[in-house]
Amino acid sequence: KGLKLNSISRVCSAPSGGEASQNLRLLQWNILSQTLGQHNDGFVRCPEEALTWEHRKYLIVQEILQNQPDVICLQEVDHFKFLQTVLGTQNYEGIFFPKPDSPCLYIEQNNGPDGCAIFYKRDKLQLLGYDTRILEVWRVQSNQVAIAARLRMRGNGREFCVCTTHLKARHGALLAKLRNEQGRDLIRFVKQFAGDTPLLLCGDFNAEPVEPIYSTILGCDLLRLGSAYADVKLDREKILQPSEDVGEFVSESIKREPPYTTWKIREDGEECHTIDYVFYTPDRLKIKNCLEFPAGEQIGKNRTPSYQYPSDHFSLVCDFELLPSAENGG
Ligand code: NDP
Ligand code: CA
Repeated sequence: KGLKLNSISRVCSAPSGGEASQNLRLLQWNILSQTLGQHNDGFVRCPEEALTWEHRKYLIVQEILQNQPDVICLQEVDHFKFLQTVLGTQNYEGIFFPKPDSPCLYIEQNNGPDGCAIFYKRDKLQLLGYDTRILEVWRVQSNQVAIAARLRMRGNGREFCVCTTHLKARHGALLAKLRNEQGRDLIRFVKQFAGDTPLLLCGDFNAEPVEPIYSTILGCDLLRLGSAYADVKLDREKILQPSEDVGEFVSESIKREPPYTTWKIREDGEECHTIDYVFYTPDRLKIKNCLEFPAGEQIGKNRTPSYQYPSDHFSLVCDFELLPSAENGG
């Protein structure tokens, strides 16, 4: 309980790290689609009532607003209008992009397709533009999407880009390969959109750190990204040391990833692993704090979702400082 080294309390009563104009707080969260969570996921240890929208919606909003993020990246959003309305009253503006053939649509009483969403604080940030993408695999469109947005800090004029995605789910070597191809397309998309602007690339990648896509992203010479949760406890000098050996850079980062970002029990057993990430540009963004995840005892034996936790994924909250670019000091 309370503040630990390199963490902000999960129920964050501390002032937002985003108060100073160069500071930026990002919240990344797969909120669990209402339609899928209630009718498709098979969370056998979660009480039915806890899975109702009436119960979940306030918990989702509460978790977001308690943390006062400047940028919010969400996946499995099938209640965008609700979030837009509620967050709209709290100074946020949002963008939504649905999956082309969302599995929600095949379930009776759905609330429309699920997709990704980005919200930003409108008094602090100005939207300069955005783009969306249906990710391609071997040049064919898949059912997974991404959104990229270019934002400008009103306080100092500094710009950054944020991109979010939700990659193909499920286990197996072929699916890991497919995710890797989606990742390659994501890199092309985001590089074309962001150019050399500092980047936050986050989402539910549905891939543990040992999967090829993790190395594809961290090893990408075009983007030069690090992983925020892996880097937060490292000295900045260590983070910025140019690595001779990409393989070693990646394997060291893998070792520092948290033990889990999702923890659930389905009929076929318990799943507890790290598949959500916040990747960032370390030479222009300084990672200052990451919100820690609740411990097993806190979560409870039935894991998540539950009356306490509305999603089977935990939110990732990161405090960054956006540094001025070397050329123009802004
Ligand atoms: P994905 O494989 O990416 O998964 C879709 C959702 O299912 C994700 O949100 C994922 O959550 C969740 N999920 C992951 N593992 C399980 C599990 N073991 N049990 C239940 N849900 C899980 O789907 P696609 O977008 O590629 O779409 C394919 C799906 O669409 C098919 O699986 C099918 O259900 C549905 N579909 C149905 C059709 C029909 O006629 N009935 C036709 C076309 C599609 P997370 O990312 O958090 O793991
Ligand atoms: Ca899910």
